[in-house]
Amino acid sequence: MIFDTHAHYDDKKFDQDRYEILDSLFSSGVSGILNCATAIENFKDTLDLSDKYEKVYAALGIHPSDCYRYKSMEDALNVLYDTIRDNDVRALGEIGLDYHYDFSPKESQLPYFAAQLEVAEKLGLPAIIHDREAHGDVFEHLRKFKGVAVIHSCSESAETVRQLCSKGHYISFSGSVTFKNAHSVREAAKAVPDELLLVETDSPYMAPVPVRGERNDSGNIRYIISVLAEVRGGTAENIGRITEENAKRLFKIG
Ligand SMILES: [Zn+2]
Repeated sequence: MIFDTHAHYDDKKFDQDRYEILDSLFSSGVSGILNCATAIENFKDTLDLSDKYEKVYAALGIHPSDCYRYKSMEDALNVLYDTIRDNDVRALGEIGLDYHYDFSPKESQLPYFAAQLEVAEKLGLPAIIHDREAHGDVFEHLRKFKGVAVIHSCSESAETVRQLCSKGHYISFSGSVTFKNAHSVREAAKAVPDELLLVETDSPYMAPVPVRGERNDSGNIRYIISVLAEVRGGTAENIGRITEENAKRLFKIG
């Protein structure tokens, strides 16, 4: 069984066949999916999916590339807080920092990230962290964070991963671990203790080799798991089992 800890099935790329795909995933070995909202505008779509499917769980947060949308951060955070309080939400995310794209200026990303980490602490929820070319600032914020974080689609160094794991944070690997030039990601994958390892697809994005460039879905997580088994040693079955157990413990499932 396989737990995909990061996907976006509300994305418009699934408008044609969303329910067919989810039905087929749940009848072929996927035991859970955390669907991560990225903006207030798509909170409802994520909540609707988690209502419709017993095995789809909701994460709500404001993505760093989406914080430019709101006039008032305080109002946006109030909506986030109230929506989480009134619904069955298992994580805060995805939140973080993205210095690769400049949809939102750094000056607005930073306060949103800090404030949402506080919300995660207050609500006792794990925080799903997006870190693109912002390792230093993400690390600084997590140093002060008293909750549990999940580094989504890990691109940190093995050394940073070791430090994050020593504080009890989880590390989630996506299709990027399968990419030909991603030697440092595979080094990082060796540095994670079994009990903090997670896998994800980031569907519909980040399709792994050998389907790189195609629309991604959780069925492709087996390619990620097989690379992890190869670099860490052991069997794909075992990686599937431990990552599923970790996800269920972290998101308080079953
Ligand atoms: Zn994502």
